[in-house]
Amino acid sequence: MEKITYPLRTNIGYFLNKPIGYSREFEINFPEIFIDPDLYAKNLIGKYSFSRTREGLLLRAELEADIDSQCSRCLEPLLVHVNTKFEDLYVFEPRMKEEMDEEHVPSDGYIDLGIPFRDYLLLEIPMNSLCKPDCKGICLECGQNLNEGDCEHHHSIQFE
Ligand SMILES: [Zn+2]
Ligand SMILES: [Zn+2]
Repeated sequence: MEKITYPLRTNIGYFLNKPIGYSREFEINFPEIFIDPDLYAKNLIGKYSFSRTREGLLLRAELEADIDSQCSRCLEPLLVHVNTKFEDLYVFEPRMKEEMDEEHVPSDGYIDLGIPFRDYLLLEIPMNSLCKPDCKGICLECGQNLNEGDCEHHHSIQFE
């Protein structure tokens, strides 16, 4: 897979000259994507829009993707399908101290949508994904994947 460093880097600087209320919608469709530093996703599809408000730009996004994760019992890799829908405000100039931690529109006009997309997609990954409902997990003593065969150890651990 070709690795593009910042595939979701986007110029939003031109919105500065647009009237309040101006809005534009974009669609994305990445069969495979890597989002720095740790998110591999397949079939990242969805749409997002930027709307010019008095304070800045309001990002609205609706995304879905298949994300590389692992079974919480046997640790085998698996893809989990996640959906997310979120809004983020990018302010033009942080005016007051309490606004300093808000996202802002950088002076070069480019933001990396990979940052919020990654954050919100990762939030949607369930903590206990399973490769199959009755996954037997691994032996805690020897690491044997118990779906593939038994080992010499006694397995008394019951999963909820
Ligand atoms: Zn499993
Ligand atoms: Zn064992």
